[in-house]
Amino acid sequence: MNTHSPIINFGAGPAALPQVVLTEAAEAVINYKDSGLSILEIPHRGGQLFEELLSESKALVLELCQLNPDTYDVLWLQGGGRLQFAMIPMNFLDSTASAGYIDSGFWAHDAQEHAKQYGNVHTIASSRALNYTMLPEIEAPIPNNLSYLHYTTNNTIYGSQFSNIPNSPVPLFADMSSDIFAQHRDYSRFDLFYAVAQKNLGAAGVTLVVIKKNLLGKIVRKLPPILDYQQQAMQHSVLNTPPVFGIYVSLLVLRWIKAKGIDTIEKDNNAKATLLYKEIDRNTLLEGIVEENSRSKMNVVFRTSNSQTEKELISFCKENGIEGIGGHRSVGGLRVSLYNAITVQQVEKLVSLLQQFEQEKLKHT
Ligand SMILES: *Cc1c(COP(=O)(O)O)cnc(C)c1O
Repeated sequence: MNTHSPIINFGAGPAALPQVVLTEAAEAVINYKDSGLSILEIPHRGGQLFEELLSESKALVLELCQLNPDTYDVLWLQGGGRLQFAMIPMNFLDSTASAGYIDSGFWAHDAQEHAKQYGNVHTIASSRALNYTMLPEIEAPIPNNLSYLHYTTNNTIYGSQFSNIPNSPVPLFADMSSDIFAQHRDYSRFDLFYAVAQKNLGAAGVTLVVIKKNLLGKIVRKLPPILDYQQQAMQHSVLNTPPVFGIYVSLLVLRWIKAKGIDTIEKDNNAKATLLYKEIDRNTLLEGIVEENSRSKMNVVFRTSNSQTEKELISFCKENGIEGIGGHRSVGGLRVSLYNAITVQQVEKLVSLLQQFEQEKLKHT
C-alpha cells in the first residue's frame, strides 16, 4: 500500500525516505508509543521515552558501523554539514598547525575553506582545475605531522565517489553525508565521521557525528560548550534542547536499514546505479559527466546535448511523476540521486521514461 503521493523524489536532499518511516513518523506526531503525548511534546530530560530512543539510536549506529561503544561516541548535533566544517578545525586544528584536505567537490572544498580560518590547510589532492569531473589522485605521501586528514566520501553535487579509504598516517576524518550506510565500509578506519540526516538518514535538522573517544581529550582551544565535542559528548547530545523529532526519524531509518540489511542495501544500490549508467551510456540524447572510475552510485550526474532538451526532459519526467532531477545550480545538467530509500523498480521506471523520451524526440527529427 502506498499512502504517500505516487511521486518519486530523485532529489539530492531533502531526499526520499522509506514509506514505513514516513508512516511511523506521522503516527508518532499524533501519539508517541501510546503515551498520549506527541513526539513533539515528550520531555528530553529525565524522561524515559526520550532516553530510550536516544540510546537505541546510538547503539544502532555503532552496531551498523561495527564499532565498539568503548572506543567511539555517537553525537546528534544541529547546524548541519556547515557546522561540522567549522567545528572540526575549531576543535582539532591549532593556529600554528596544518590539516590535510582532499578537495574533490563542492562540499569538500567548502570544508577546506572553513579550516583556513583556524590554521593552515595542506591540500593533499585536488580536482578543482578539472571542474571536479573526476576524483583527484593522491600522488605524494601524506605528511605525518598533519593534525588530521579530511575528505568527502561521496561528492553529492559533482557525482563522484571514493571506493577506497585513503591510507592516512594521521587521524582520518570524513564527511559521509550522502553515502553513509549505502554499502559496507570499514568504519574503524576513521577517527571522526559525520553525516547530515537529510540525504540518507532522515530529516533535515540533525547531524550524526561519530567520534573516537581518545580524540576528545585533544581539543586544541577553549570553545563555547555547544561547539566543543568533548562537552557535547559529556552531555550525551542534550547540552541544549535536542532535535527530538529529527533524532526519532533517524532512529526509524536506522531500524529500516537494520531490517533490510547492509548486504541487500549494497546489492540494490549497485543494481540501481548499473541500470541508470547503462541507460545514460546507451541513450543518444544523454551523456555522463563524470569519468567512469570516479562515478558515484548515489548521485548520478549527466547532461543532454542542449539546454532546451534538458528542460523538455525535466518536464516530461514531471508529467510522469518524477521530481528532483535538475542538476545543482553550480553544475547544471541533470542529477538523479539513488539514496537507500529509492527502489530498483523506481529506477526501472525512470530508465523506461528516458527511453520513451528518446523515441519521441527521434520521431520529431
Ligand atoms: C548536503 C551536504 C552537506 C551540507 O549540509 P548542510 O546541512 O546543508 O550544511 C555537506 N556535505 C555533503 C557531502 C552534503 O551532501
